[in-house]
Amino acid sequence: MSVRVASCSCGQLRAEVRGEPTRVSVCHCHACQRRTGSVFGAQARFPREVVAVEGEGTEFVRVGDEGGRSRFTFCPRCGSTVFYVAEGDEGRRIAIPVGAFADTRFPAPTVSVYEERMHSWVSVPDDAEHWR
Ligand SMILES: [Zn+2]
Ligand SMILES: [Zn+2]
Repeated sequence: MSVRVASCSCGQLRAEVRGEPTRVSVCHCHACQRRTGSVFGAQARFPREVVAVEGEGTEFVRVGDEGGRSRFTFCPRCGSTVFYVAEGDEGRRIAIPVGAFADTRFPAPTVSVYEERMHSWVSVPDDAEHWR
């Protein structure tokens, strides 16, 4: 079984996951653009029970483009988000930004959402599900 470690920039906050993600997606919404400082967010979801968190995190509740609330946990020292949960889904699933794994072999996204807010130069895999 594969074991992967997501970590913040400074390495203090980490999440170790066992097994493959249940879903890998990209989101082009404005809230994800602002959160990441990049032009889209890429995230992998895992069942809560395969994720082990280590280190100190600070939480921020973000209201998404359609009003959904998610609780992001980031490193108080360097500011990187290492995981987040959708409100009401805390016990079931946890999402981890794909970039936090810094692993070029990480599975590609199969779902792309908010493409109406996608920057013109971005392209996502053709065989992904595309949602406007
Ligand atoms: Zn850090
Ligand atoms: Zn988004």
